[in-house]
Amino acid sequence: MHPDTLAVHMGEEPLLAPSPLVPPIYQTSVFTFKDLYTAADVTGGVQEGYSYARIGQPNADMFAAAVAALEGGPAGAVAASGMGAILAALVAARDGRAVAAADEIYGGSVALLEGFLRPLGVSCLRFDAHHPESVPAEAGAVLVESASNPLGRLSDLSALAMAAHRHGARLIVDNTFATPYLCRPLEHGADLVVHSVTKFLAGHGDVTLGVVTGERDLVRQSQTALVTFGATPDPFACWLALRGLRTFGVRMQRAVDNARGVAGFLAGRKEVLRVHHASLSGHGDHALAARFLSGEGPAILAFDLRDEAAAARFIERLEMIRYAPSLGDVSTIVLHPATTSHRQLERAEQQRLGILPGTIRLSLGIERLEDLLAELAHALD
Ligand code: PLP
Repeated sequence: MHPDTLAVHMGEEPLLAPSPLVPPIYQTSVFTFKDLYTAADVTGGVQEGYSYARIGQPNADMFAAAVAALEGGPAGAVAASGMGAILAALVAARDGRAVAAADEIYGGSVALLEGFLRPLGVSCLRFDAHHPESVPAEAGAVLVESASNPLGRLSDLSALAMAAHRHGARLIVDNTFATPYLCRPLEHGADLVVHSVTKFLAGHGDVTLGVVTGERDLVRQSQTALVTFGATPDPFACWLALRGLRTFGVRMQRAVDNARGVAGFLAGRKEVLRVHHASLSGHGDHALAARFLSGEGPAILAFDLRDEAAAARFIERLEMIRYAPSLGDVSTIVLHPATTSHRQLERAEQQRLGILPGTIRLSLGIERLEDLLAELAHALD
């Protein structure tokens, strides 16, 4: 079945008969047993079942099954947030070795490596994902983003997977920006895919959640890490995320179309110095988009105004589009990466990565394109 259809049907209620069309919320922290033998078998892993919600609960399993189906992975594990998913995947995949992450990556992931894993004694390395041969040989886990935050840069995922595997490392792809609507990294050789479900998968700005999917043993180890850290999710968050996922295909289609339309519009405006979106034929990653992003750009784009003051004025003049430090919502939202999502980076490092004081990130929602263009034209005028 097409992923759009899977998103509507996967993770349907497996427990009750007759099964409800919409699954119930199992809002319980613990499950009961009729006798001590069943309890021993379930808690010992001999028999399938639920015992304690931190260890596993039906709403998480339903959502994990749905995302695994979308990504074409055999298994999935749900985390309390995208950061929880990334930490669990790194811990599971590194196998006691170093962790390597691409230079262009979400600021929170940089903070996880530099501010948390490194002080714990984990060797943390960085490399340029546009040069797969630069994947460090010492790494056990290699983290890249299929479309990078905030500029939506793409890289050759097949070459990165080959480079990682040559060193006996596992490739983890953060697919939050591209989503399985545009890119399925497991098909290109990735071992694990992680998501901030908070974004396009849930889609409505009302859930904080993450997910890991991919190779079964690595997912099992990721799940063990999540259970041990206490970073497993709440049932209601999983229920909301599955509800949001039902409309994934139609939401993404509209958002991706809007991004292409807005990118073309901005490219024609004299106030805009540069538009970062791989759908544009002049963009450096346009050829990679054909191979890895279904020929599209992500439903997020960035563009450069003259300086920070121009960016601030533009954002102040927006009326319908609101400033919010997130992305992947049904409503279009705007953000200034240098002072928000990537504030952890030194100014010089921001400049090196192309995140300028005048750079603005726009995450496209599902509004009508003509209304978005009118709003953007008004703010630019
Ligand atoms: N990965 C990417 C690409 C992100 O943009 C974010 C958050 O913005 C995360 C991971 C972290 O996700 P969460 O906020 O759900 O922990």
